[in-house]
Amino acid sequence: SAKAQGRHRYAFYQPELTIQAEKRLWLEQELRAAIDRDQFELHYQPQIDIVRGRLAGVEALVRWRHPDLGLVSPNDFIKVAERIGVIKSLENWILETACYQLSQWRQEKISDFKMAVNISPIHFHEPELYNTVQQILQKTNVPPELLELEITESVVQNLDGNITMFEQLREMGIKIAIDDFGTGYSSLASLKNLPIDCLKIDRLFIIDMMEDADSSILLGTIIGAAQALGNSVIAEGVENREQLLVLRGIGCEIVQGFYFSKPLFPEEIPNMAKKDFRNAVTGNVTNAPII
Ligand code: C2E
Ligand code: MG
Ligand code: MG
Ligand code: MG
Repeated sequence: SAKAQGRHRYAFYQPELTIQAEKRLWLEQELRAAIDRDQFELHYQPQIDIVRGRLAGVEALVRWRHPDLGLVSPNDFIKVAERIGVIKSLENWILETACYQLSQWRQEKISDFKMAVNISPIHFHEPELYNTVQQILQKTNVPPELLELEITESVVQNLDGNITMFEQLREMGIKIAIDDFGTGYSSLASLKNLPIDCLKIDRLFIIDMMEDADSSILLGTIIGAAQALGNSVIAEGVENREQLLVLRGIGCEIVQGFYFSKPLFPEEIPNMAKKDFRNAVTGNVTNAPII
């Protein structure tokens, strides 16, 4: 019988199963069930336009709230989700939740900032992503230009000249950002060859920038080239005022990082949208409304 077979198989594999492998299997099972159990939540990290002094956008960052494990970081489960094949359904939930949240803020007349959502390279290569995004935008009534998809450099490297998804998404009007720029092999050439809208400079580049003048000169040149080609630039992982001042000096206009804010609960965002950050570089950040 099947039961006997199952038992036989179990007995056969049992000695091979280390505690680590058992843990891994358990984690995978828990992750498979997590969407149905409603265990994911999104936090939103502000992206500040330091020239205009206002909230430019928020990045949706997923967390897994597990009853025994607590709040699990995406660094600890996104790779697993990719491996076991649930990344698409997870990210579709994320896209829909983030767009619903943005439409809610828009209904509450909180100003027009963007929503950025991370998309795994595996998901980005699925042709059906196009329809999914289109349906979600229609359902939530979010204007396409307010949705930005963040993809990492590895997507750019593995394109093999196939830029269909880029072209289709851009035709729809949504924005595409290259995440963690500077960590991989992508070059400035991808700015010229790909229909992208935004470069997100990786946190490690920002740390380097403070080490020596050459690094900040190089970064300033990259920022200038990206902007001259019509892209926006976001500096990631900005943690202190010194970094902010250097970035301002080399022409960076949008900044994301703990200096302004960690990722927040959704109910904390309206307050950020009301803040005036115009004096962030020179003086105090106030709660005065932007005129
Ligand atoms: P990321 O897309 O580069 O997101 C930025 C990460 O840096 C976030 O970590 C954020 O909390 C953290 N961060 C922001 N400001 C600072 C700072 O000033 N200092 C430092 N040290 N860190 C800062 P988080 O939320 O843990 O996410 C980690 C990574 O997980 C993300 O990196 C992204 O690659 C991935 N991730 C998150 N949500 C998703 C998702 O929905 N889909 C996919 N495929 N990946 C996701
Ligand atoms: Mg990102
Ligand atoms: Mg990043
Ligand atoms: Mg990163």
